[in-house]
Formats: sequence, C-alpha cells, structure tokens
Amino acid sequence: MIFINPRGAPELACDHCGCRWVDRLKGKAYCYECGEEISEEAIAEFQQAATEFAAKHAPPAAG
Ligand SMILES: [Zn+2]
Repeated sequence: MIFINPRGAPELACDHCGCRWVDRLKGKAYCYECGEEISEEAIAEFQQAATEFAAKHAPPAAG
C-alpha cells in the first residue's frame, strides 16, 4: 500500500497492517511490525509514485 505523507510524498506501507516501518533487504521488503513481505506490486507502485513526486518537485533543469 502507498501512504501519502502530509508533504504529498509517497511512502511505502505494509499491505497487512498499514505500518510504514519497512525493512528492505536485497530487493525484498518486509514489514517491521508484522513481518509480512511487501508485495512487488506495492514496491513498483511506490517507485512510480516516488518518481512522479520527484519529477514534480525537482528544481528546473539548468540550461
Ligand atoms: Zn505490517
């Protein structure tokens, strides 16, 4: 699941308990709270949201 923080930035959260304490190990991610693995779909969704957020908030390119 993706959580949007008050600044509008996406944060990866656990699908099972909703906590945002995620431990990332070698391409996999696990919830600190309940220990469930974060799905690859959720990670991909988060990566895309983070990329879009960065693009919106990036400083204008020089030149
Ligand atoms: Zn959890």
